[in-house]
Amino acid sequence: MNTFQDLGLNDDLLHAITDLGFTTPSEVQTKAIPILLESDTDLVALAQTGTGKTAAFGFPMLHKINVDSRTTQGLILSPTRELCLQITNEMKLYGKYYKGLNVVAVYGGSSITDQAREVKKGAQIIVATPGRMKDMINRKLVDISKIEYAVLDEADEMLNMGFKEDITDILSFTPQEKNTWLFSATMPREVAAIAKNFMRKPQEITVGNKNESTNQVSHEYYLVNSRDRYDALKRLADANPDIFSVVFCRTKNDTQKVAERLIEDGYSAGALHGDLSQNQRDLVMNSFRKNQIQMLVATDVAARGIDVDDITHVINYQLPDEIETYTHRSGRTGRAGKTGVSMVIVSKSEVRKIKSIERIINKAFQKKDIPDGMEICEVQLMSLANKIHNTAINPEIEKYLSSINELFEDTSKEELIKKFFSVEFTRFFNYYQKSKNLNVSDADFRDRDGARDGGREFKGGSDSTRYFINVGSKDGFDWMKLKDFLKEVLELGRDDVFKVEVKDSFSFFNTENELKDKVLAFFTDYKHEGRFVNVEVSENRGGGGKRSDRFSGGKRERRSDDRRSGSRGDSGNRPDRRSSSDAKPRRSGDFKPNTNGAPNRAARRAGGNFKPTDSAISKPRRSRR
Ligand code: AMP
Repeated sequence: MNTFQDLGLNDDLLHAITDLGFTTPSEVQTKAIPILLESDTDLVALAQTGTGKTAAFGFPMLHKINVDSRTTQGLILSPTRELCLQITNEMKLYGKYYKGLNVVAVYGGSSITDQAREVKKGAQIIVATPGRMKDMINRKLVDISKIEYAVLDEADEMLNMGFKEDITDILSFTPQEKNTWLFSATMPREVAAIAKNFMRKPQEITVGNKNESTNQVSHEYYLVNSRDRYDALKRLADANPDIFSVVFCRTKNDTQKVAERLIEDGYSAGALHGDLSQNQRDLVMNSFRKNQIQMLVATDVAARGIDVDDITHVINYQLPDEIETYTHRSGRTGRAGKTGVSMVIVSKSEVRKIKSIERIINKAFQKKDIPDGMEICEVQLMSLANKIHNTAINPEIEKYLSSINELFEDTSKEELIKKFFSVEFTRFFNYYQKSKNLNVSDADFRDRDGARDGGREFKGGSDSTRYFINVGSKDGFDWMKLKDFLKEVLELGRDDVFKVEVKDSFSFFNTENELKDKVLAFFTDYKHEGRFVNVEVSENRGGGGKRSDRFSGGKRERRSDDRRSGSRGDSGNRPDRRSSSDAKPRRSGDFKPNTNGAPNRAARRAGGNFKPTDSAISKPRRSRR
């Protein structure tokens, strides 16, 4: 059966299907539609979002209902407002030739009275989120006692979101003899229990393997120190100039913070989490849908049901607490036949979770390296070159050309090209030229975990300077406060002060040798709370001896050193000392090209090995800021 006609759908539906441009039924449609049309049966369908499952239950439901009756005959429960609206919309499109069809969406965050009014007009089909549906039932604003078809869409997500009780309650108001169709991406125990307790001999269909994430998604992980997580995120974004992604964080707080930092650093980002008002969430989602936001930073709960088809990357900034949730995350990309990448930024302590996820999704992860600064420069440069190459000339530019030509009268084409691209290239080059390697090898961890400072060139070695400072814990400092204080007064970057050891009345710290003059000069007559702060070069090297271990042997301190060790030879201080926030390199004031033109996709997919070519696709649609 290769056509919708073969499946036995009526003419009104076939007409609408033609209008929608669907030519061939998808796998889940081919499997589910004949079963649901031919028999009055319960059904369990294991299918991911993006497989066409809305039509798989929507077509049969529309085919079977009596549109001349005003009685509510079909109820579709979905986990989120977004999905609820999307299903309602699709159902209306599928049923566009059904005269008198009324599909009503019932969801939280919008006027319950308005929704009740719509229902009262006679809704043959109600699409609802569980919370609002229960509310409507309790207030007797809806009658579902005569429904014939109940759909539990994304059942696993509804249960993950804690709707089990609501679903159970809602189903108790429906007739026994109805048919229940359950759609779920995965089949965890709770979903199997619903099927067992609320369904009668359901037929089962599976699209792809049980619990397997979609094939269009490739899974990658990047091993970094957890303190480098944010920098790693930025590099992944910079290495993928046309990224359109959901970045998952574990908590609302982290979600907000990461989004704020990204925005501050010049990225096109937005936050989506439960502490935002419905209005704020709608604004963010609308911007995301319109591709005005490239990086949507979200919690799992808030992101459920996001139905945006062209998400290129899912970035797991942190892994979810429940690893099963990973499937929902990665299912946000690779939809509607497109390919997608699900990236995970992990620290060593989490890396074992990757193995567990591999078992759940039945697919292997690829370990990739966070691209280094020069790779990113190349990607960005080629992206710009491709964008310029594909840019249509704006005729309005003609009137300015004579003065521009005059200015470049003596500049050759070669020179002009070099200058033109240098504007953008220099910005990234300056930012990234001394960037450190963010990748962590197993050896790095062995050193750290083995509490072995020696053997490698840690900061605190020959090209750093160790100082004595006459303030200590008696003055209210611990190592972190002292580090922050030094960074602030000296206007240094985040990693410029290291190996801080705080004692009672004095302390030690290190900087790179090149900062020595600056540090000593600053503290010649500096007063802190009325007292002269004295800083001298110390003989104590720190970092290897017993005393050093005692004071800086805490996990955090050693980690910091470990991280520094990774940067040896290629990092040093950030050239831009305006802030220590690792801000994205700012564009020059008078030339603000959008760097979102894409280098070729294959190159992007290559992760750590970007080799853009001329055959790039340009997507001139998003603005970076
Ligand atoms: P869903 O899995 O229901 O969220 O569907 C994902 C997307 O695929 C939606 O935009 C549908 O409109 C679209 N779609 C569903 N069935 C087909 C089909 N047979 N051919 C082409 N597109 C489809």
